[in-house]
Amino acid sequence: MRVQSWTPRIYAPLLLGHLGVLLFVGERWILASSYALVLAILVFTVLLCCRRLQLSISHNRPLWALLLGALLAQLAAFALLLVDALHHPQGTLVAFDPTFYFCLGSFWLIAAAAYNPLTPMRRWTTAIDGVLACAIVALFYLTLRRLLGSGEPAQATGRYVMWMFDGMGLFVALFATLRFVGARRAEERRFHFVLAAFALAEMVLPAIHNRFILASESWLPEWLLGWPFVMLGLLLSRRRTVWLRGYRPTRRTRQVAASIAPLMLSLALCLLGFAQLGADRPLAMGALILAVAAYGVRTTVLLGYHQAVEDELRSLRRDLHHKSVRDELTGLLNRAGFRRVLRRAWQEAARVRQAFGIAVVDVDNFKSFNDTYGHLAGDDCLSLVAHTLRQEAGLQPGVVAARYGGEEFVILLSDLDMDRAEAVVQRLRQRVEALQVRHINAAHGVVTISAGLAVMPAGTSLASEKLLRAADEALFAAKRGGRNQVCRAVATEPAVKA
Ligand code: GH3
Ligand code: MG
Ligand code: MG
Repeated sequence: MRVQSWTPRIYAPLLLGHLGVLLFVGERWILASSYALVLAILVFTVLLCCRRLQLSISHNRPLWALLLGALLAQLAAFALLLVDALHHPQGTLVAFDPTFYFCLGSFWLIAAAAYNPLTPMRRWTTAIDGVLACAIVALFYLTLRRLLGSGEPAQATGRYVMWMFDGMGLFVALFATLRFVGARRAEERRFHFVLAAFALAEMVLPAIHNRFILASESWLPEWLLGWPFVMLGLLLSRRRTVWLRGYRPTRRTRQVAASIAPLMLSLALCLLGFAQLGADRPLAMGALILAVAAYGVRTTVLLGYHQAVEDELRSLRRDLHHKSVRDELTGLLNRAGFRRVLRRAWQEAARVRQAFGIAVVDVDNFKSFNDTYGHLAGDDCLSLVAHTLRQEAGLQPGVVAARYGGEEFVILLSDLDMDRAEAVVQRLRQRVEALQVRHINAAHGVVTISAGLAVMPAGTSLASEKLLRAADEALFAAKRGGRNQVCRAVATEPAVKA
């Protein structure tokens, strides 16, 4: 049988037994028996928490372990209450030692709400949050001690303590709810849902209990003490994936929750520090300084981290951009890069009304080069041709070489009329021929290139696509004409006088 289905069968008799004890057991043993039953409920909940801890994925384990720590602290508190009740059947209104363990329980709950297994700089933030959680609980405890030692009537002290525990419970519940709202991973959401529900029950039910106990003689409110653990146990025993399945925090919600969560601890310490101002000024000032300093250090650490991440992202983006516009084999601009440069250069030429030319360059008989010497030699040859084109283009301002695809290249020629542009392309052709890369199946016995050139004269306007097409057609003419030559585009469409 599944744990989920037999858990209620264990809690039900324990709860009924507890009610029975409160209704029927005599004054001498009523409190001790009541605490004993709460302890039995708590022990079973601790076992369920151990099981959940065992089942959880590794980086969530610390969260469940912190919740277990809180339960064990409460276990110690109730055990002490039981011992106290065995000696004083009427109970002590606020017994000192159990209070310490209840405070310790609150510490583990705060630590669980603060712990973020996936936060950047986790070691630092965990240490800072740990110090803050310690300080909060220490101050809380010192305030309780001061109240208990103040000599005020027990009823008044009890009321203060009650309000303080309510405040602490509310703080933990709000903190855990905030974490639940902002948690991205389902497992983390599940934990913070359980924690928030438990913290809320731990606030509401004992608050009702305390008020009834202070106001009436009845022992019945004691029954409420076991309920938060029963509720927690039932939640712990449930199978996974049933936790508000439809809920997914938006990015904005996560951002808000993530930025408020670290503030909560400092804020809580500030509030406790303010509450102490009248009673113990140095302690209060220390708490306030610690709250501000811890938040400052936390922010500084995270700012440093985010700066490093930002630098890394920027450099990655640069690399990515470089890769997206550069051809890997030749290092020239690739087709996308060429399109970008073409658009910019053409717009500039049209704006200042200067000439603009495009040459389409193609390696001659390259298929047979590959077939004869192999593809690796073909790659080397393409790299060499590309290197030559880049070098030669670099000598002339406004001339840019790019790899259009395969063994085809394009040259952009800004601010050069047809004659000067042709001279540049002719020089490129000669430089490639001068490389003297052997190609036994080519007419010239070496690797050569052919080029088609189209130029938009200064003061005219012609769409860059048409210019490119005209240059491509001129290239065909160069191939037909016997290769290793540069051909001008016959007519670059009727050039519109701008
Ligand atoms: P033409 O003189 O008419 O241009 O003839 P061609 O053989 O050069 O033209 P074709 O288009 O028939 O062949 C182009 C060849 O270029 C085919 C393809 O294997 C080769 N090629 C394209 N890209 C690469 C590359 O990156 N590396 C290598 N090694 N070869 C390539
Ligand atoms: Mg070719
Ligand atoms: Mg080709």
